[in-house]
Parts: sequence; C-alpha cells; structure tokens
Amino acid sequence: MGKRKSAKQAVKKSEYKLPTEFDCPFCNFQKCVEVLLERKKKLGTIGCRVCAHSYNAPINHLTEPADLYCLWIDECERVNEEEASRILSTKKSTLKDSRAKSAKSELTT
Ligand SMILES: [Zn+2]
Repeated sequence: MGKRKSAKQAVKKSEYKLPTEFDCPFCNFQKCVEVLLERKKKLGTIGCRVCAHSYNAPINHLTEPADLYCLWIDECERVNEEEASRILSTKKSTLKDSRAKSAKSELTT
C-alpha cells in the first residue's frame, strides 16, 4: 500500500500525430484537405485548400480528424447520388460515372 516505485516510468510520448491532412475527393489533390476541430464550439470544419470545397459538422470530444473526413465523404456521396438520380430522372442516358469510388477504397482503416 502506498508503495511508490521511484523507477522512471516510461511515459509514452506520443510522437505519432494523427493525420489532419487528407486527399480531396473533389479535385483529387493530395494532402490539401485540412481539418479544424473546435472542441469548445463543438464544431468541426474540413476544407480543401485547392478547390475550396468545405464542410462543417458537429463534433464531440471523441471526434478525430479522420472521423470528420469520413463524414465529409459520406456527405459527398449522398450529394452525388442525389445529383445522379436527378440527372437520371431528367436525362435517360447511360451514366457510368463513379468518381467517388476511388475515394472510398482508401478509407478502409
Ligand atoms: Zn479539392
């Protein structure tokens, strides 16, 4: 009880930094997407420096940049699908455009 080891405790210094830069699903540039997590405001902002696409989402203390990125991708896909279905309903042509496909295959973490 109360026996404290004076031995140096190896405090693991987390050298590893979580990635806060991602590839943009719109312009396909690499590391051009920056994530800003405003924990006080509980607001996350993600945006591309190149094509200026951006997205905001509510965050919590567990949210990490990668989570926000996933949310953004999901949102992009939803928008794409909506757009695609709108185009399909107005224009009946063969639409085989899968732009979002490459972005998703990289997200298997
Ligand atoms: Zn971009």
